[in-house]
Amino acid sequence: MKRYKTLNNYLKGIFKGKIAKIPINAGFSCPNRENGGRGCLFCSDSGGSEFSGDIEKTITEQIVNGKKMIADKWDCSGFISFFQNFSNTFANTDILRARYNEAIEQENIVGIAVATRPDCFSEEIYDLLEEYNRKTFLWIELGLQTSSESTAELIERGYGNDVFENTIRELKKRNIKTVIHLIAGLPGEDKRDFLDSIKYINNFKPWGIKLHNIYIQKNSRLFEYSQGTGFQVLKMEEYIDWVTDALMYLDKDVIVHRLTGDPDRKLLVAPDWIRHKLKVLSEIDRVMILKNATQGCLDNTNCHF
Ligand code: SF4
Repeated sequence: MKRYKTLNNYLKGIFKGKIAKIPINAGFSCPNRENGGRGCLFCSDSGGSEFSGDIEKTITEQIVNGKKMIADKWDCSGFISFFQNFSNTFANTDILRARYNEAIEQENIVGIAVATRPDCFSEEIYDLLEEYNRKTFLWIELGLQTSSESTAELIERGYGNDVFENTIRELKKRNIKTVIHLIAGLPGEDKRDFLDSIKYINNFKPWGIKLHNIYIQKNSRLFEYSQGTGFQVLKMEEYIDWVTDALMYLDKDVIVHRLTGDPDRKLLVAPDWIRHKLKVLSEIDRVMILKNATQGCLDNTNCHF
């Protein structure tokens, strides 16, 4: 029993069996990396995911391969096609429709998840997503990373909080499920900043959240930044403390999709402890018990942002 709401349990409740996500690289780009844009400070060459499908393969092939790999680990009753790399609404609706259709038409696919940026939407795209929301199990993931506008500028996120606020309202207006990404330990941020981000997103009642600590890979600008500035990543004890407090402040209805990062082990510079994902997760469980904590147990009414 976890002391927070997990995606695994939630999906089991809906689909009456184990549901796994199959990560797909559908060949999209990102507006933050176009026209000379350098991308977010922490972004790697692969656009935020090191373990997605092979870009050289079709979506169909990636799903077939993904199912084979998952079959070694779990007996699943269905799969979610997860458009993971870069910004998966960054194209016209004909292209988006073709790629989403290819993903949902495969055997045993019960839904799609689409990771993107809040500035990658238009009325036509909202309409398209509304259509998919009616015919399949859909959620949209938005990379917010922080609620601090000054940190957002430092990491070159490339859009303001007003853009995020407008997008999440538009998605919620259409009953489309939203998942927000936040990162702990961004340059210049302390625990209070991270908790402020949690309190900020509570206001929008997202369906889900993904949290992880910042990590440095050789193929990101953060590598050079850390060498030039001496920027230090969080120690494991610090992250466990921050993330367990974050869970205590997080709205009790929000589904927790992730609490650890998944760097490419060959390119990882720091922190080394992130390689031990299961240990991190069990430490989170242990500290939640020590703190006598459950998701949403702390009063959240005195937000300061
Ligand atoms: S929005 Fe995502 S893909 Fe685009 S630069 Fe930032 S981290 Fe990379």
